[in-house]
Amino acid sequence: MSGNFLALAQPGVQQLSPYVPGKPVDELARELNLDPSKIVKLASNENPLGPSPKVLAAIREELAELTRYPDGNGFALKSLLADKCRVELNQVTLGNGSNDILELVGRAYLAPGLNAVFSEHAFAVYPIVTQAVGADARVIPAKDWGHDLPAMLAAIDAQTRVVFIANPNNPTGTWFDEQALNEFLQDVPEHVLVVLDEAYIEYAEGSDLPDGLDFLAAYPNLLVSRTFSKAYGLASLRVGYGLSTPPVSAVFDPGLPRSPPPCPAPWAPR
Ligand SMILES: *Cc1c(COP(=O)(O)O)cnc(C)c1O
Repeated sequence: MSGNFLALAQPGVQQLSPYVPGKPVDELARELNLDPSKIVKLASNENPLGPSPKVLAAIREELAELTRYPDGNGFALKSLLADKCRVELNQVTLGNGSNDILELVGRAYLAPGLNAVFSEHAFAVYPIVTQAVGADARVIPAKDWGHDLPAMLAAIDAQTRVVFIANPNNPTGTWFDEQALNEFLQDVPEHVLVVLDEAYIEYAEGSDLPDGLDFLAAYPNLLVSRTFSKAYGLASLRVGYGLSTPPVSAVFDPGLPRSPPPCPAPWAPR
């Protein structure tokens, strides 16, 4: 057997380097011979308060059901999220963490010859998702550590399929206001899916802080991603979700009706 299975993998996958998560406390304690109870882990933005006692009680109640496959369609959770987020059930996409939503976007919309636009110092998963499918990453220099939305707009071309923006941003903690988002969305061409990553939206406040959900009705090319990992203290459960318009969410969930039928979109790189 002489198959070089690394060389056989598609080029984007060959060159992947793993996302480096914060080191688990136990591992650090072993390495440096420290008392694990004295270590405070800040690296992954895990919630220091832990999950709500109501969540813990609900999980305990369901433990006997671990033997069963779950409802792959996540009907119960989707219904609750649809209510809370003021959207229809068919606009909710569930993921194994919101990272999974970002990956679904990459697999559905990016490919060699196409590109994704995102900012320097943005969330570490955007470049990984882009590279994994062999697409080009257009990394736009940050402005005062935040997203330079006009420069990102200017970087979009006919091969761009996705723009990733995080508001507030991780790791720099910057945010853009409602007017900036509105101007950006107005000018983004229709063939580009804007992924507005709101993993930290529950922590941010301010009258001019935009709520991505307010823009869904006006912008069919918008997808808002959110997560239970941070504010809800449930990182280990891996539950995140995307909110988009039905034609977009149907792409991620082939069980949903796809209407109008698949159209001859300008898929191939020009
Ligand atoms: C933590 C984080 C996510 C994803 O976390 P999940 O646990 O996969 O939901 C997404 N975006 C940003 C900016 C994050 O910091």
